[in-house]
Amino acid sequence: MIERGALRRAFEERYGRPARLFRAPGRVNLIGEHTDYNGGFVLPMAIDRETVVAAAPRADRTVRVRSLNRGEELAFDLDRPGEPRRGLWLDYVEGVARALESRGVRLGGADLLLLSDVPAGAGLSSSAALEVSAGLALASVSGRRVDPVELALAGQQAEHAYVGTLSGVMDQFVAALGREGHALLIDCRALAAEAIPLDTTNFVVAIADTHVRHELSASEYNRRRAECEEGVRLLSEHLPGVRELRDVSVEEFERFAACLPGTVRRRCRHVVGENARTLAAAAALRRGDLEEVGRLMRRSHESLRDDYEVSCAELDLLAETAWGVRGVLGSRMTGGGFGGSTVSLVPRDRLTEFERALTEEYQQRKGFTPTVYVSEAGGGAEEVISDE
Ligand code: ADP
Ligand code: MG
Repeated sequence: MIERGALRRAFEERYGRPARLFRAPGRVNLIGEHTDYNGGFVLPMAIDRETVVAAAPRADRTVRVRSLNRGEELAFDLDRPGEPRRGLWLDYVEGVARALESRGVRLGGADLLLLSDVPAGAGLSSSAALEVSAGLALASVSGRRVDPVELALAGQQAEHAYVGTLSGVMDQFVAALGREGHALLIDCRALAAEAIPLDTTNFVVAIADTHVRHELSASEYNRRRAECEEGVRLLSEHLPGVRELRDVSVEEFERFAACLPGTVRRRCRHVVGENARTLAAAAALRRGDLEEVGRLMRRSHESLRDDYEVSCAELDLLAETAWGVRGVLGSRMTGGGFGGSTVSLVPRDRLTEFERALTEEYQQRKGFTPTVYVSEAGGGAEEVISDE
């Protein structure tokens, strides 16, 4: 957790006036990978790591942003849009500001000072935490209220238009609407979520960061999207009414799978199966059957590895090692893939053993160690009133 009082004081010292504080969390996805941009279901939870933004309004239309993580201050003018896709971290902040204004949320200038303990590029969505916390801060100090779903959509729009990543809406949705002690079953087409209690008395959610991120992730990501669209086009010739892979049931897919070329068939099999697994995992979670959630997580990983081909040696190593630890219910890669983190359901009293097994195996095979975090399910974006 970020120390709020220290951030407040740092703002006052630097800018000479008091700030309001806003926060948004990172997230980990329990199951439902590469389903969001196919109109399907995901089951993430907000984690207890966050980005906190201290903010105060300015009289002009300039937004000045300092990231304490980067030790850098950048600025933009709300009336003079900068070039998108500059490859700067400012793209996320300027992107969300522009998206909010294009959605009718008129903003004023502001000074922002931010600090995050969500590791960047670890698959825990530091980018959504940044977009959503900065978007909430900018709207709030401009005297505007934003609906959390609108805020999430503005964050996604920032990724599409300003950053150049065609991401689905999962990350921003859970950053905006996460709920303490709950996972969210999000219907990414309806933009609606059901909060499902996550009982961590005996089992914890453990995240293991591979510390690798392979270069091909952006290009492969866009290629997967195109392959899914091709699948929809071919399947809809037999199944009128299919608009997205979300509309295809497992039975329908099996009936028409032979009509699809090999690669597209495997991509679609992942998405259709993953939607079904996500709904099954949500049902299992509702009845407190974590064993079943764990089994589904493992099948999700195998499908992402073999059919969707977005895993990598490091993620496979961590997931497979976790499967071999006594008592672990399940483990899988989480996030877009090609690096980032795994998520596992681990007995609380076997955490040390789990961490040791992953660290030893990874150190031996890769020459460095993964970082293991345990996180409870945290809340979504909000103004921070108390510094406790
Ligand atoms: P992920 O969202 O999985 O962490 P991304 O590549 O989508 O990975 O987003 C990481 C990028 O977001 C960083 O490279 C940086 O540009 C930006 N970012 C995230 N948090 C911060 C921060 N606290 N300060 C500055 N930039 C940040
Ligand atoms: Mg991201």
